Amino acid sequence: MSDIIHLLPDSVANQIAAGEVIQRPASVLKELVENSIDAGATFIQILIKDAGRTLIQVVDNGKGMSETDARMAFERHATSKIKNADDLFSLRTMGFRGEALASIAAVAQVELRTRRAEDELGVLVEIAGTRVFKQESVQCDLGTSFQVKNLFFNVPARRRFLKSDNVEKSHILTEFYRIALVNTSVAFSFFDGDEEIFQLPASNNKIRIENIFGKSAKKRWQQQLLSIETSTNLVSIFGYVGKPEYAQKSATQYFFVNGRYMRHPYFHKAVLLAYNQMIQASESPNYFIYFDVDPQTIDVNIHPTKTEIKFENEQAIWSILTAAVKEALGKFNVIPSIDFDQEGAVDIPTTISVENVRPPQTNFNPNYNPFGTSNYKRPVLDWEDLYGGFEKKEEPSESVIDWEPETEIIITPSFTQQEQQKVIENLETRAENYQYKNRFILTGLKSGLLMIDQHRAHTRILFDLFLSQIENSKGSSQQVLFPEILELSADDALFFEQIIPDLQHVGFEFETMENHTYSVKGVSSHVGTGSVIDLLLEMLDKAKTTAQDPTASIHETISLSLAEASSIKSGQRLSSEEMSDLIDRLFACSNHNFTPDGKKIMTIFSQDELEKRF
Ligand code: ADP
Ligand code: MG
Repeated sequence: MSDIIHLLPDSVANQIAAGEVIQRPASVLKELVENSIDAGATFIQILIKDAGRTLIQVVDNGKGMSETDARMAFERHATSKIKNADDLFSLRTMGFRGEALASIAAVAQVELRTRRAEDELGVLVEIAGTRVFKQESVQCDLGTSFQVKNLFFNVPARRRFLKSDNVEKSHILTEFYRIALVNTSVAFSFFDGDEEIFQLPASNNKIRIENIFGKSAKKRWQQQLLSIETSTNLVSIFGYVGKPEYAQKSATQYFFVNGRYMRHPYFHKAVLLAYNQMIQASESPNYFIYFDVDPQTIDVNIHPTKTEIKFENEQAIWSILTAAVKEALGKFNVIPSIDFDQEGAVDIPTTISVENVRPPQTNFNPNYNPFGTSNYKRPVLDWEDLYGGFEKKEEPSESVIDWEPETEIIITPSFTQQEQQKVIENLETRAENYQYKNRFILTGLKSGLLMIDQHRAHTRILFDLFLSQIENSKGSSQQVLFPEILELSADDALFFEQIIPDLQHVGFEFETMENHTYSVKGVSSHVGTGSVIDLLLEMLDKAKTTAQDPTASIHETISLSLAEASSIKSGQRLSSEEMSDLIDRLFACSNHNFTPDGKKIMTIFSQDELEKRF
C-alpha cells in the first residue's frame, strides 16, 4: 500500500490559516492598517465599499517595499519584523507573525502598489487566491497601497457567514478606533464610499479622543476627562478617566499597552475600585488608559485575533493603576482631597518591589455625595408658619426677613386650604427623615408614614420657581468665571434661539458665537453644581419633544424641562437637612401631590394600614 500523507498546497494551507486570522472585513482593515503603522506611516488613508465586502483600500506614506519584498510579503511566515524567537520578547511592532498578507491573499483579490524612497519605480503585484497574476514595475507614490477586493470570493461559506452591512461596519470601526486612539501622531482619513467618516489630523491623545467620539455631544469629552499620569520602574501609565457623573451602562473603555489595544478584565476591576461608592453598580466609567512597560514583561503572543495580554507584574500594576485613578479623581475634587492627606493615603512610589503588593484599601467617605450638594437655600420660616396663615406674607415678620427674593415662591393653591392644612398638620413636627435607596424620603406623620420621591418633588419645586421667574421676568443669575461653550446642531440652535429670552428670565446669560455655538456667561442660581452644558443639552432634548405638542405652553415646557434637568436625581444621597428643606419647599408649592406632567410625588401609608400589617 502506498503512503498516504502529503503536504497541502500553499493555496489550501493559506486558506486554512486565513480562517484564523481573517474572519471578516474588519480583520483585513486591522492587518493592513497595522502594517502601515509598522512601516512608519504618518498619514493613512482608508476607503471601504459595501462594508468592506467589495473593497478595503489602505494607502500609506510609510517606507514601502522593494520589488522582492513586495512578492515575499505574501508568503506565509514571511516577516521583516522578527528574526528569531528572542525578538518576540522585545516587540515594538504590531505585526510579527508574517501571516496576515498570506491569509488575505488566500481569500481575496489583492492589488499592491508600493515604492521606497530610494527607488525610482515602484512595483505592482496582483494576487488572488494565493495565485500571482501580475508583477511589474509601475510609477506610483512613495509608500504602499493595498486594495483588497471581493473578500471571500472563493469561500462562499465564509461570505454567507458575514453579517449585515451595519454590523460589519461597526466591526470595522471598532478595529479602527483601537488603532487610531493610540497612534495619535498618525493622521487618518477614512471614507465609506463617497462619505467621509473621519479626517483625523495628527494630534495628542485627548484631541484624538474628542475627534473620534466628539460627535455625540452628550458625552462632553473635554469636560469629563480627567488626566492620569504616573511613572514607576515597572510601568508608566497615562491617559484619561471620566468623571463619575458621566458613568453609564455602556461606557467607552480602552486599555492600551505599548501602542497596542488590549482587553484586561483584571485591570478593569482596578479602575472600578477607584470609583468605589461614586457610581452606581450598574454603571461604569469611561476611560482611555495607556500603559507603557518593558516588552520583556508582557506576552502578546497568545493568539492573532485575541486582545488579552499577559503581564508579568499584574498585581503590582493593579495597585499602581487604582492609585493613579484615585489620584486623578481626588485632584479634581471629585472625591474629598482629605482622603489623600490622611493615613493610608495613596502615594505612588516610583520604585516598586513586586513582593508584598496588595490591592490598596479603599478609604472613601461613603457619605460623600459625588453629585455635589444642591444649592437651594433653606427657607427660614417653617412650613407650619407659612400655612399658619397666608396673611403673614403680606407683612413679613422677622422670620421671613432672610427669605431671598429669588427664592420666593408664589403660592397659588390648587388645593383647598383645608386639604393642605390636613396633610401639614399631620406632619410630625421636625420628624426624623430617612432616605430610602437614595430615592425616596420617608418621614413620619402623626398618623402614618409619608413617602416622597425626591426627584419629582424637586422637579415640582423648581418648576414653580422657574415658571414664576419667566412670567415675572425676574430670575437671579450667577456669573461664571470660565464660560462653558455650548455647541448645537443647526436644528437645535434654531429652537434654542427661540427660548433664549425665557432662559434669560430664569437667570441664564449667553453670548452668541459663530457656528451655532454659545458661550454660557451666567447660570440660574437654582441649578445644581453639575455641568451646565449637560444640563442645557438635557433640557433642550426634553423641551424639543414636549414642544411638538401644540397645546403645550412654551413657558411651561421650558420650566418643566429645565426643572427636570436640574433637579436632584434619584440616586443622590441627601443630608437630613437637605431632606427637611425639600419637604418644606414642596409643601410650599402649588401642588405638592403631582409633578407638572402628572406624576405622583408622594404617597401616605396610614397608621391603620401599617398596624394591620402586624
Ligand atoms: P507581519 O506584519 O506579521 O510581519 P504581514 O503578512 O502583515 O506580516 O506582512 C508581511 C511583511 O510585509 C511585513 O513584515 C512587512 O515587511 C511587509 N509589509 C506589509 N505591509 C507593508 C506596508 N504597508 N508597508 C511596508 N511594508 C509592508
Ligand atoms: Mg502585519
